Amino acid sequence: MITEIGKDVIRPIVSGLLLTAKRLRRDKTTVFYPEQKRQPFPRTRWRHVLKRYENGLEKCIGCSLCAGACPAKCIYVEAADNTDEERYSPGERYAKRYEINMLRCIFCGFCQEACPTGAIVLRSDFELADYSRPDFIYTKERLLEPMPEEAGSGRDSEAAVQASAP
Ligand code: SF4
Ligand code: SF4
Repeated sequence: MITEIGKDVIRPIVSGLLLTAKRLRRDKTTVFYPEQKRQPFPRTRWRHVLKRYENGLEKCIGCSLCAGACPAKCIYVEAADNTDEERYSPGERYAKRYEINMLRCIFCGFCQEACPTGAIVLRSDFELADYSRPDFIYTKERLLEPMPEEAGSGRDSEAAVQASAP
C-alpha cells in the first residue's frame, strides 16, 4: 500500500516539482508589449484578409465554400454575377457581400483550407480588440486587401498588407 502511494502519488509530484525547478534556472524573457512585439510563428492564424490578384481583381468568387466549412457559422457570403462592364473577379461571380463575425470566430483556419482560390487567408495581426459589437463584424471592405497602389494606408490596410506574403 505504502509502496503504491509512493509510486503513484509522491513520485509524480516530485518529478513535477523538479521539472518546475529546472525551468526556474532558465533566463527569463520579458517582452515590453506593445512597444516590443515578438516575431509570430510562421503559421500563426489571426486576422483574416481577402486577397487580390496582382492586377487588382479579387480572388474571391463568392462560392461560399468557406462559409460551409466554418464550424462557428460566422461567415456570410452573398454572391453576384460579374459583367463585362463591372468586373470584380476573374470568374463568373464575385462576393457582393462578405462578412465575418469575429466574435464567433475560433481562428481554426477551416475557411482558408476550404477556399479554392486562396482568397481568404488568416495572417498574423492579433490586435483585434475593439469597443463595440458592430466593430467586430468585418465587412468585405475591411477584409479586402487594398489595390496595389493603395497599400499602406489605414489600420485595416496595414493588416491587409501582410497578406501580400504568399
Ligand atoms: S477561422 Fe474558423 S471559425 Fe473563423 S471564420 Fe474561418 S472557419 Fe470560421
Ligand atoms: S473566400 Fe474563397 S471559399 Fe469563400 S466565397 Fe470566396 S472564393 Fe469561395
